[in-house]
Order: sequence, then structure tokens, then C-alpha cells
Amino acid sequence: MSMKQWITNRIKKLFENTESTITTVIVLAFFGGSASILALSKKASTFFLQILNTPTPLWATILLVLLCCLYTYLKASQYLSKNNPSNDPIIELKEIGNFKWKTIIHKNGNFDVSQIPYCKEHEIKLVPHGISYFCPALHIGCKSQIKKEDLKLQYDIAKSFIEGMINKIAI
Ligand SMILES: [Zn+2]
Repeated sequence: MSMKQWITNRIKKLFENTESTITTVIVLAFFGGSASILALSKKASTFFLQILNTPTPLWATILLVLLCCLYTYLKASQYLSKNNPSNDPIIELKEIGNFKWKTIIHKNGNFDVSQIPYCKEHEIKLVPHGISYFCPALHIGCKSQIKKEDLKLQYDIAKSFIEGMINKIAI
């Protein structure tokens, strides 16, 4: 069996086994440093068989290009999975001034800061009572509190600092 026959058989087998599950095969082809995407549907097997019937140098070149693309694709997905292990947002308590602020940092760079601060020592959310928010650990002597009228300003200050921190991380 020649090399060409062997490869032909392998590719035929591959498509016999996988054609039912593959609906789209995306082949990345690189020409002169720029990338173009050729999307192949279920006709992929016919396409490959046509290539195999062309003179050896052409199909060998195309096979080589496809293997290079596959290698590039695998390397790229490896890189992405290493650098982006999860799409879950990052949730942190960030300390600004006398409080900690619950911050949710999304993967797209946006972030949310909880309107109500957390006690710096006990890391629990303050609760409203009368004209202020208090740490629920008040009964064991925690004095962490903020007046409701001061909350908006403190929140804006905290948010500004947090945005600065996130931007620095991004740089
Ligand atoms: Zn406390």
C-alpha cells in the first residue's frame, strides 16, 4: 500500500466514523501571514476525496497546510485555556478606608460594587438600623458603622478606588 493510499483510507475511515457527529469543520488557512477561514459543512468528506484525486504535490501541500492549521488551532486553544481557566466572575472584598466592599469583576472588564459595605474586621455586611448601618457583630463590641447620609459618598469613593485598582491590574 502506497503512502497516498494509506492516507486516503485513514481519511475515509475518519469521516465514516465522525460524519454523523461533525456538522461543521472549520479549517483555518493561512496565506501570506493573513488568516482566512474556510467553513466546510458535511460535504467535507467529498472535498477531501477530491483533493486526494489531484496530483500528489497539490494534495500533499494542502495536507501539510491543514496539519499546520490543526497544530496552530490546538496551540491556540491550549493557550486560551491556560490563560482563561474559567469565565466565572471574580468576587472579592476590597478594603477601602474603614470598610470592605464586595466587588464582582466580570471577564469583559466590567465590575459591580455592592452598595452596602462590609465590616473590615468581621467581613460581614453592615445592616441598617435607625440613621446608620452597623456591623452585626455590634453585640460583641464591634464599632464599625456608617451614617446613611454618608453612605453615598463613601460608596462613590470606594468605587472610584476599585476602578483604579482594576485598571492597574488590566495594564
Ligand atoms: Zn464588625
